[in-house]
Amino acid sequence: MEKRKTICLITGMPETLHARRVAKGVFEQCDKYGYNVAVFASMSHFLFFIEEHAKGENNIYSLPNFKLFDGVIIDTVTLLEDGTGKVMKTVDRRIKECGNIPVVCLGIPYGGYHTINGYNDDILREMCRHVVNVHGKRDICVLTGKKGHPEAEERLAVFADELGKLGIELDEDHRIYGDFWYNSGIALAKEMIEGKRPMYEAVITAGDYMGLGLIEELTKHGIRVPEDIIVIGFDATDEAMLAEITLTSYETNYTKTAADAVDYLRKNIDPDGSIKPYVPDMQNLCHEGMSCGCQPDITQSARTFRDSLYYIYHNYTSENVFDNIDIGMLMESYASESLTASATPEECLKNIFGKVYLLLPFVNFRLCLREDWLSYDTYLKEGYPDKMMVAVADSTENGVKVNNWKDMFTIDTKDLVPELNEYTEKPCVFYFAAVHFGDNTLGYAVLQRELSDRHLLNLVFRNWLRLVNNSLEMARAKNRYVQLSIVDNMTGLYNRRGMYEKFSDMMKHADKDDRLMICVIDMDGLKYINDTFGHSEGDEAIITMSRAIKTLCGDNEVPVRAGGDEFVIIGIGAYSDDEPKKRAEHLADILEKSNSELDKPYRLDASIGCVLSDENSFELEKHLTKADEEMYRCKSSRRKNRTAL
Ligand code: GH3
Ligand code: MG
Repeated sequence: MEKRKTICLITGMPETLHARRVAKGVFEQCDKYGYNVAVFASMSHFLFFIEEHAKGENNIYSLPNFKLFDGVIIDTVTLLEDGTGKVMKTVDRRIKECGNIPVVCLGIPYGGYHTINGYNDDILREMCRHVVNVHGKRDICVLTGKKGHPEAEERLAVFADELGKLGIELDEDHRIYGDFWYNSGIALAKEMIEGKRPMYEAVITAGDYMGLGLIEELTKHGIRVPEDIIVIGFDATDEAMLAEITLTSYETNYTKTAADAVDYLRKNIDPDGSIKPYVPDMQNLCHEGMSCGCQPDITQSARTFRDSLYYIYHNYTSENVFDNIDIGMLMESYASESLTASATPEECLKNIFGKVYLLLPFVNFRLCLREDWLSYDTYLKEGYPDKMMVAVADSTENGVKVNNWKDMFTIDTKDLVPELNEYTEKPCVFYFAAVHFGDNTLGYAVLQRELSDRHLLNLVFRNWLRLVNNSLEMARAKNRYVQLSIVDNMTGLYNRRGMYEKFSDMMKHADKDDRLMICVIDMDGLKYINDTFGHSEGDEAIITMSRAIKTLCGDNEVPVRAGGDEFVIIGIGAYSDDEPKKRAEHLADILEKSNSELDKPYRLDASIGCVLSDENSFELEKHLTKADEEMYRCKSSRRKNRTAL
């Protein structure tokens, strides 16, 4: 089956009302047409107070490879909230790099792309009809935003026009400019109370906050809402639903705008396909509160109330417990504790896998990390490397699962996630989010859900990712300190402590018929090099010897600088009896080559003692002593040979 067409939605702060409305419109249309959706969104506000964190989040906009998509929708209303304009520029640059792809902006034009304007006209008119037809008011004033502000003027003009149609002339005295904020509602209330303005029968506000300020000030002075005056607002904010006198308010129609954007793209990418326009349900866009005298919409208020309480209700008793995981369940899962407890990076990834269920429902989940995510030398602030490692993967539909180090695999970052290319029975949404700590990018996460799930991103995903980000950083820090304590700084080989650590790791994977192999290697005549050519030349010689030790060391063996000029190699495996001999010869060859390449006024030489244990006998100390004795025997015979010469 051919893969589905994919529409890319570039938005931000997916939990906000606006982004949720946009996503709803895009999802609903794409579901109708069988398109997949890929969403790229920063999880925090562009002006978030931890600047480094916001930068790390924003790096997600440098990830999309637009060649993979059939069309792009840019939520410019959200993206232009980034005062620096950097986010929008990044998106624009990456789209242009990818050549010809249909792009559409929502609400605000940018970069010469086609723009679908907001469709609030119908709703604003409905607000007027509600006040006049349902409540029979005729002495109505409109409170809008600042004079000259495009939205303030546009809304006022529509209100005036619709009221005119209803036979109410909106004269200058009934057109009041505010600033969309509480204080302009308070100011209007004061003027009414002081008699500077009449006590209108109704006030239509072009934004909820002004309506809320107005009600608060009026009621403070004994004026009753809705009995003495009715007030309605626009934007259906949470604050409107949670106020003491809940404010009747209307949603903006960005769902329709976004849905129309999908239709616009469809005309480009499927010119023969039928268009099934999104029809907004005006009834649903109105959230009735107490402020107009209608029966308040209790369900809506209750939902807002629960949402704002971080969804602290559980459905443990329902059949499908995981169908509606809420922030309460996330916190009660003690994910933070179990992730923080991870002793090693490997364990951390395993523990993350163990907590992916908290993101249910999903089809697939992928955590892609840069291959050097553990490194403290590479700090990635912008862009992504060419390759990424799928470090954790879970699937509810026979897809790939990765829950341990061994199963990890590498992908090309330009492919984003292999599943984008796979056909699915139902259209899906892929949410891409940044994985980072501060402004250091570690990778990205991809959550694939069926579009019909209608589960928009909520604060569970954002907070789950925060826990994951923190645990990855904790794993990096722990790993760094462990590395510093077990690795010899000068040569990069393990030190003695590292030798014991690595030996116990190796023991975990030892087979019954394996043998322990130990080589002890001590440089010959280092004192001479030190005394004749200086200590730093002696250091140089140790470093060169450590390279020879690495070459001599097999893939599953451990190279150690045991101290001074003494080195050890430990291996556990199916060694044959001639291994010690082969090692000694190999070392001689390596040093021969090294001496001829280096062309130093001295020879780099070493004595080696190599021993093998019996099968299934892994006593480290005993064999270290034996190898040491063997090395000394080698050293003294070499000395004798030299003296004899
Ligand atoms: P032999 O051939 O018997 O092994 O003698 P040697 O000269 O190599 O000296 P020996 O192995 O007995 O002792 C190691 C010397 O290496 C002692 C110390 O002065 C020197 N050494 C130890 N650590 C370092 C180091 O980090 N840098 C340098 N330059 N010298 C070191
Ligand atoms: Mg020595």
